Amino acid sequence: MTDPGHSSRIGVFGGTFDPPQNGHLAVAQAVLERLELDHVLFVPAGDPWQKNVKTPAIDRFAMVEIALLGQERMSVSSVDIERQGPTYTIDTLTDLANLYPSAELFFILGDDAFSGITSWKNYEQLTQLATIVVVSRHGTPVEVPTKLSPSVNLLEMSALPISSTQCRDRIKEGHSLEGLVPAGVAEYIEKKNLYRRTT
Ligand code: NAP
Repeated sequence: MTDPGHSSRIGVFGGTFDPPQNGHLAVAQAVLERLELDHVLFVPAGDPWQKNVKTPAIDRFAMVEIALLGQERMSVSSVDIERQGPTYTIDTLTDLANLYPSAELFFILGDDAFSGITSWKNYEQLTQLATIVVVSRHGTPVEVPTKLSPSVNLLEMSALPISSTQCRDRIKEGHSLEGLVPAGVAEYIEKKNLYRRTT
């Protein structure tokens, strides 16, 4: 895992990553290649306020770090877990624009997350900081809000049929995560006894 350093085209892949799974890695790799990015930064949300998340941010961050071991052009950023309060993407992009002032930023998200973007804080200002890259994997048309349309890049891809919800459910049911998450992530989940509690 490397630092974006002086990369000029940086993908910003925000997520709850509860847990990070192979679908996330496949998306990052596909966008890296198709948009000719120099680097993809995974940014685990500190407080994903629209989700009921029980896994501490520190564990979600650690799992992303493990998932990216050996990836030369991907790394994890702690900007969203260092900031107090609910995680808003406008703050994520502002922090990263300050950290990497000469880079062009590309915010990567899936079509489900994109469909809720008009509920996000100051969503119409996001495109002043980054091009939005929507990875469409469900084969259904993506509706782009007018205020964002000039700066949204739609990428069709046949992504891996894996979700973090499915991973958590499998753990609760006592099944293995083999093939769904990197082996190191599965070991971390086991060691920290994550996702077993039903309450
Ligand atoms: P997540 O569940 O961890 O997923 C991260 C991203 O990976 C999502 O865009 C998701 O797309 C995509 N993904 C997951 N599995 C995939 C697969 N198999 N193939 C292709 N893509 C896959 O993260 P999240 O909770 O949705 O959060 C996404 C970002 O939105 C975060 O940065 C969060 O902070 C941000 N957000 C911001 C606000 C705000 O107010 N500013 C509000 C809500 C969320 P899908 O969504 O299509 O599954």
